[in-house]
Amino acid sequence: MRPLPLIDTHTHFDVAEFDPDRLQLAILAKQRGVQALVLIGFLAQRFNTLVQVQQQINQAATPHPQALLAPGLHPFYIQEHTVDHLQQLEQLIKSQQVVAIGEIGLDTFTKAMKQPEVFARQQAFFSAQLELAQQSNLPVLLHIRRAHAETLALLKKHNFKQGGIAHAFGGGIQEAKAFIQMGFKLGVTGQVTNPNARRLHQVIKTVGAAHLVLETDCPDMTPLCCQQSHEHRTRNTPANLPYVLDGLSQLLTMDQEKLAGQLWENSLTCLNLNLPFEQK
Ligand SMILES: [Zn+2]
Repeated sequence: MRPLPLIDTHTHFDVAEFDPDRLQLAILAKQRGVQALVLIGFLAQRFNTLVQVQQQINQAATPHPQALLAPGLHPFYIQEHTVDHLQQLEQLIKSQQVVAIGEIGLDTFTKAMKQPEVFARQQAFFSAQLELAQQSNLPVLLHIRRAHAETLALLKKHNFKQGGIAHAFGGGIQEAKAFIQMGFKLGVTGQVTNPNARRLHQVIKTVGAAHLVLETDCPDMTPLCCQQSHEHRTRNTPANLPYVLDGLSQLLTMDQEKLAGQLWENSLTCLNLNLPFEQK
């Protein structure tokens, strides 16, 4: 596969699953064209690890993707967050170079997450982090599961203008258009390679390349071609990002190089990045 310059806008490359071989995988990703990857936060207890992993990658002597930070408090772990964690997040944003706050949002996938008091708590933490993003002039990386209308309502209530990415977008066409109108790009994962993901394919084809960015969401969302077994999940890695590009280019019947160029521009715009376009 011809390496094209790509940005992995959503990774959990800090998790322990990558401890044995993270640097080798980062170097392989770079060889396959991945110029930058975003390290996403989910729990305050992991903020230090996130920064350490960023240093580990960025200080490597061998060519590697530039690791970028996007710390945040994930709605799925709502019961574990405290007000103190919000302060830690604020401190981290002040002390480190951060490209976005993420991942944040609303999740009502399970019955437990839907409970009124649990959902109210999710909304409170999401609101607080939106305010933090506004104060710091940062975009946000959204995690939304079965709560697209409620997420849009909160963004509107805050008159949120910094945009960002609706990660692993799983909503419908109308919702996609509403997020785009609010200044967001839609994150496309390896799920695009799944022939059964018809709704997702319809959304992607309707909105078009101008509103999309790529992500692996590793270690999850492994592209179909990289899955080694039906019984066990195959670990996804940033080095698999070209397969997401490949799946998207097939779906949009668009030349890979042209598509990569458009996605590169989209990523830079929504994350306010200034990276050199390194054509290999
Ligand atoms: Zn994630």
